[in-house]
Amino acid sequence: MIVIVGAGLAGLSAAYHLRGMPYKILEREREVGGLCRSYVKDGFTFDYTGHLLHFRQTAIKALVESLLLDRLQKHARKSFVFSHDTYTEYPFQVNTYGLPPEVVRECLLGFIATLSRSPSTAPADSPSFKQWIIDSLGEGIAKHFMVPFNEKLWQVPLDELTSDWVSWLVPKPDVKDVVSGALGIKDKAFGYNPSFQYPVSGGIKVLPEAFLPSVENLTYDSELVAIETEKRRAVFRSAQGERTEEYDRIISTIPLPELVRRCVDLPASMRELAGALRWVSVYNVNLAVAREHVSDKHWIYFPEHRYPFYRAGFPMNFSPSMGQPGCSSMYVEISHPPTEQESETALIERVRRGLEEAGVLQPTDELVMSDVKDLYYAYVLFDRYRSRAVKELLGELERRGISSIGRYGLWEHTSMEDAIAQGQQLAMRLRMRAAA
Ligand SMILES: Cc1cc2nc3c(=O)[nH]c(=O)nc-3n(C[C@H](O)[C@H](O)[C@H](O)COP(=O)(O)OP(=O)(O)OC[C@H]3O[C@@H](n4cnc5c(N)ncnc54)[C@H](O)[C@@H]3O)c2cc1C
Repeated sequence: MIVIVGAGLAGLSAAYHLRGMPYKILEREREVGGLCRSYVKDGFTFDYTGHLLHFRQTAIKALVESLLLDRLQKHARKSFVFSHDTYTEYPFQVNTYGLPPEVVRECLLGFIATLSRSPSTAPADSPSFKQWIIDSLGEGIAKHFMVPFNEKLWQVPLDELTSDWVSWLVPKPDVKDVVSGALGIKDKAFGYNPSFQYPVSGGIKVLPEAFLPSVENLTYDSELVAIETEKRRAVFRSAQGERTEEYDRIISTIPLPELVRRCVDLPASMRELAGALRWVSVYNVNLAVAREHVSDKHWIYFPEHRYPFYRAGFPMNFSPSMGQPGCSSMYVEISHPPTEQESETALIERVRRGLEEAGVLQPTDELVMSDVKDLYYAYVLFDRYRSRAVKELLGELERRGISSIGRYGLWEHTSMEDAIAQGQQLAMRLRMRAAA
């Protein structure tokens, strides 16, 4: 028996691709989707911050399109950076036109200097994230966007982070793109996501729900609380009490530190490794305003420290049915260390002030709805410790019949598409093993 823990996209995809094999899937919540969920409040639909589909893998794109058929819509990205009281298109590094001339000059000269400089020889195998930014994009782009934006997002000095995860997220431009972007010449889309897809209505939760007709033996309200790895027994707690599942293999999609904590017979050294993994949480502040079209953009990045948030998005601009006529809705993201808490009232007040200062809201705007979700595990920190610890932990768990997958199971920075791909790949491996 295969026991899948968690019915987010990774768990659902594993179940979907295990069709015909004996499996059970148990989920702590009363609904599927994990981070890829949506909820409705006062007539407004919100995701747990905006969840947009950017495909890089044709097989996963085809699977999602076959599950959602005509319920998906493609959009040309309208994402911007707001700095120096100016909107510039994202990504910043190839769109500096419109910024104050001295800022554009710093960005251009800094980038040009990277072309003749040999990469820094850092003591470790990869440079720190900060060094990578300076080596690849130059001092000006670092100063005016990359460093302040990422400090806000990651909540730690960037020289504590590695650079081995950035390649697909932070595209390195060539000099022609940087110069064209400084002069306002647009001849190509740039970046990992020049377009995206999103459900026409209902929010992103329609994606996990589309797996349900093909998924069997799903039990909600069942939280994994302990695993005896030697005896291959897992204990789940629900409102009805505890139940024990015997297993040949566990597919776990819950956060790696949570999984390790629940494996009661793992050596203390493994617990110590997992205990030192670091991450940041995100406050997802959702608002609705009694004014149409407060912005014509899909989402905006805010690098400057005077704004508390690093990003704000406008769901009704990519799915108008997610709100009410005559209104606008927005999601705002603020990173925070997991140990620090702020009251909902204080957060909403801070966000409102910041949005007014940025000119997105006006002082006369009436908020018709507000809500805060705290995403406890949001961004895994890629510090120098992570890669060795995760490798050792995954190896030890695998030896005990536990495959840990998904964004937080592999403890990485990946997308919905990746979670679906990981579930699929593991299911295929288990199928081949069973057939051998
Ligand atoms: C702020 C933010 C914005 C994002 N935006 C995008 C985007 O625009 N596009 C994109 O592609 N990706 C985006 N992502 C990434 C995306 O959310 C994830 O890659 C994906 O949803 C991960 O799916 P998963 O199944 O691996 O994990 P999860 O969604 O975390 O699923 C894990 C499941 O396990 C369950 N669970 C946890 N503990 C237990 C337990 N003890 N017992 C039983 N069940 C348990 C949870 O309830 C959950 O259902 C974003 C992520 C964040 C944090």
